[in-house]
Amino acid sequence: MSAPAVVCLARTGLAVAREAAAAIGGELFAPASVLPGDGFDGRPSDVIRELFLAGRPVVGVCAAGILVRCLASCLGGKRSDPPVIAAAETGAFWIPLLGGHVGANALARRLADALGGRPVLTTASDLRFGLALDDPPEGWALRNPEALSGLTAKLLAGEGVALGGSAAGRADWLAGLPRREGAPDLMVGAEPSGDLPALVPKCAALGVGCVRGCRPEELIALADGTLHAAGLSPDALAGVFSVDLKADEEAVVAVAGQYGAPARFFTPGELESQAPRVRDPSAIVFREVGCHSVAEAAALAGAGPDGSLRVGKQKSASATCALAVAPEPILDLAGRGRGRLFLVSIGPGCAAWRTPEASRMIAEAEEVVGYGAYLDLVGPVLRQRPVKRFALGEEAERCRYALARAAEGRSVALVCSGDVGVYAMASLVWELVDREDAFRRVEVRASPGVTAANAAAARIGAPLGHDHCMISLSDLMTSREVILARVEAAARADFVISFYNPVSAGRRTLLPAARDVLLRHRPSTTPVAVARNLGRVGESLRHVDLCALRAEDADMRSVVLVGASTSRRLSTADGARMYTPRGYRSARGTGAAG
Ligand code: SAH
Repeated sequence: MSAPAVVCLARTGLAVAREAAAAIGGELFAPASVLPGDGFDGRPSDVIRELFLAGRPVVGVCAAGILVRCLASCLGGKRSDPPVIAAAETGAFWIPLLGGHVGANALARRLADALGGRPVLTTASDLRFGLALDDPPEGWALRNPEALSGLTAKLLAGEGVALGGSAAGRADWLAGLPRREGAPDLMVGAEPSGDLPALVPKCAALGVGCVRGCRPEELIALADGTLHAAGLSPDALAGVFSVDLKADEEAVVAVAGQYGAPARFFTPGELESQAPRVRDPSAIVFREVGCHSVAEAAALAGAGPDGSLRVGKQKSASATCALAVAPEPILDLAGRGRGRLFLVSIGPGCAAWRTPEASRMIAEAEEVVGYGAYLDLVGPVLRQRPVKRFALGEEAERCRYALARAAEGRSVALVCSGDVGVYAMASLVWELVDREDAFRRVEVRASPGVTAANAAAARIGAPLGHDHCMISLSDLMTSREVILARVEAAARADFVISFYNPVSAGRRTLLPAARDVLLRHRPSTTPVAVARNLGRVGESLRHVDLCALRAEDADMRSVVLVGASTSRRLSTADGARMYTPRGYRSARGTGAAG
């Protein structure tokens, strides 16, 4: 879960808010009027909404009603929304408003323990038994959650529960539940539980190895067989472990994905230190990898010093697998993750044009990387995150830095304006991953964003209503000849064109040259719109005829949309608008659907 955000809306609550943030590893957010020099500008309700949509647990040191009103329109599902707590500014009450069983009750208890005051719990099972079966402690998983509601209803109606399973006697945290004798209705243990609800301690470590290119199905089948032989439910897996060399191996990643378990990797040296505990060492593996065992050693290293091998090395044609089990749930995973790089599209500027997924990626990242001006656009939610700023032009350095930090096992967000895949960092990142083996291990995930052409189109009318293309007029990476040849082709094909990077201080002739090419193919009165600073301070929109388009109309902060021969301009009470009909038949409503 990402770091909680403690939002304080009045100076009188600051002391409690600061203490609360310190107690739960949270970040303090307050308006500049409350926290001069370190507070955020803009509306507190926007900031609270953005934090919530980004998946951050929110502790509001303010009236409960403020949080309710502000978040009402953003509520999703009870399992997907982050916890929300209202706190009295005296610190006397900690009130979980949302997500009691996804962390809010636990957080309220922690706050009350640290600062005094009372957690104001309203969820029935917490009040009656001091626990929630659907919110087990760290290191435990709930299997068959859908089967739990009947049991909870019976408990609340005053009946007892009969526990079954190998760990039934060891789960102290279930002590508050009333018991009954008879056939079990709740299983506690790492073994499979059939259809019954089960609380599963995550105490198993799966070690895997394989030859390069092993089919994922082969390794998954071998792992399934190993779990079966051990009599363990896949939910008992705390992690899937292997050697560093396999961090970019599809089959290993697929096994971890199959069981919803994190993948962790060790150096050959770390694995070799497990040699005294390994059952089935191999000289061949030592020659190839630098340690005498991968699967067994990785399982043992994953299970920790108190763990032991449950299933020794199992082999298939191209894979190996072993299973070790620790006496208690494994809480701190050993080894390094693959590392994750989020390619985050923040849209043209304003927060309203940013997807919740993009905000969530920023919230989840341990470090945020980007061009300084784009990081500034992200606003207050970035305020206290570790940030690495780069100057304009340092694109390759930016991407390399982000990948290198991720390859060390971190979650890194690389922030880009508009859409990260449109004339932006995503292709450079993939180029580096393609070229450099060290980056192959990193899990790269991109969020789609509102690109400048979409934002411009929304302001202009519906210029992209028929076939269209984007052309960048930057000649830094593409020669002038190629650019003009593409303009010519687009002009011949009668595409609507969005020109990115239309004019820079040192490049002023390409836009007029492109205009002249276009004028040979479409009317001089073809509507053109120049949209500048979309979604940012100083946004402007200007309509001109194609023949009148000049370099002075645009700069690097504008995108130029040139209509096709069918595009139309009209005057409205809100100013000029441009649209491109969907086709010859669309005015009669028989065009393509959508
Ligand atoms: N990834 C960005 C594009 C980067 S190329 C996106 O998807 O929007 C940079 C060019 O994009 C600028 O020269 C300009 O043409 C356009 N652009 C980016 N943001 C803009 C904005 N807020 N307003 C107008 N044009 C913008």
